[in-house]
Amino acid sequence: MDMQHALERLCTKNGPSGFEAPVAEAAKALLEPLMDEVWTDRIGNVIGIRRCGKPRAKKLLLDAHLDEIGLIVTGIEGGFLRFQSIGGVDPRMLPGRELTVLTDPPILGVVATMPPHVCHQKDKDRALPLSELYVDIGMDQPTAEQAVPIGTPMVFRAGSFPLGSREICGKSMDDRSCFVTLLRTVELLQGKDLDVDLYILGSAREEISGSGAQCAAFAVEPDYCVAVDVTHGRTPDGPKDMSFALGGGPVVGVGPNMTRWMTDLAIRTANEVAVPIQLEVMAGHSGTNGWYLQICREGVPTLVLSLPLKYMHSPIEVLDRQDMEQVAQLLAAIAERLGREDDRL
Ligand SMILES: [Zn+2]
Repeated sequence: MDMQHALERLCTKNGPSGFEAPVAEAAKALLEPLMDEVWTDRIGNVIGIRRCGKPRAKKLLLDAHLDEIGLIVTGIEGGFLRFQSIGGVDPRMLPGRELTVLTDPPILGVVATMPPHVCHQKDKDRALPLSELYVDIGMDQPTAEQAVPIGTPMVFRAGSFPLGSREICGKSMDDRSCFVTLLRTVELLQGKDLDVDLYILGSAREEISGSGAQCAAFAVEPDYCVAVDVTHGRTPDGPKDMSFALGGGPVVGVGPNMTRWMTDLAIRTANEVAVPIQLEVMAGHSGTNGWYLQICREGVPTLVLSLPLKYMHSPIEVLDRQDMEQVAQLLAAIAERLGREDDRL
């Protein structure tokens, strides 16, 4: 599978939390050839199963979320759109951005920005809050009211493109890059004899709540879960203790949101298959779907595995292709080691 091509297919689709249908459809099409069965559930998750064919097999669920952060129209003033955020949008990121307004068909917009010549002195050194920003769609008030219903979602306008020879840049790499690593994992496991039924979850609504993963885990009743999401990639100005080198390999979460023996299994397996890893201590809530997967029903052994990514929650998120491949290699090796009688459930 060409991971960059799969990533492009997903990242050119729009799907802010609660409005995932277009990206979910693309994800389903990518997943179908690899699984025994694929379906979309009522909350918008895409779920696929590959059965191992053994009686009473345990279930391993691998999760990556399909939704992206976005904006939502709250009103129209003089033809300009007012809005709030869907998920964690940084207001500093917004002025001058190109947006896709998800009307049917979609239209383009730009976040208005004040030229420096006429900007108030008091605004020059501060980030404008969302409540003071507007989206320009090039329409007057009556036309805009006709074209854009209140509650219309908007997303960054961008696809993805190579940055240098190893990195890929674009919007919604968080977390579609990790969904692509799950596709690659299934590909690596083709023809392998597993002891688990493998479930792949492309979850909805992670950026606002984690409710997609919560519903899917309730329905699937997994015996083990891995939440695969992005973590902060290192830049020269970033804090060393909270960021991880691109090209340094998968990042294994360590802390109470992860089940200790699953973390140990990931570390041991990485050594056995010579995949370099980095460790991220997460002292509380991991901020990922791992939280909701771990506390489903009576509790599920859970691992959080992360892909380093620069500029999270911007339209120019950047990751390293080799890290993606190594996340998939590690996940595949973990899947091959689970499901035996001596697992510490
Ligand atoms: Zn994410």
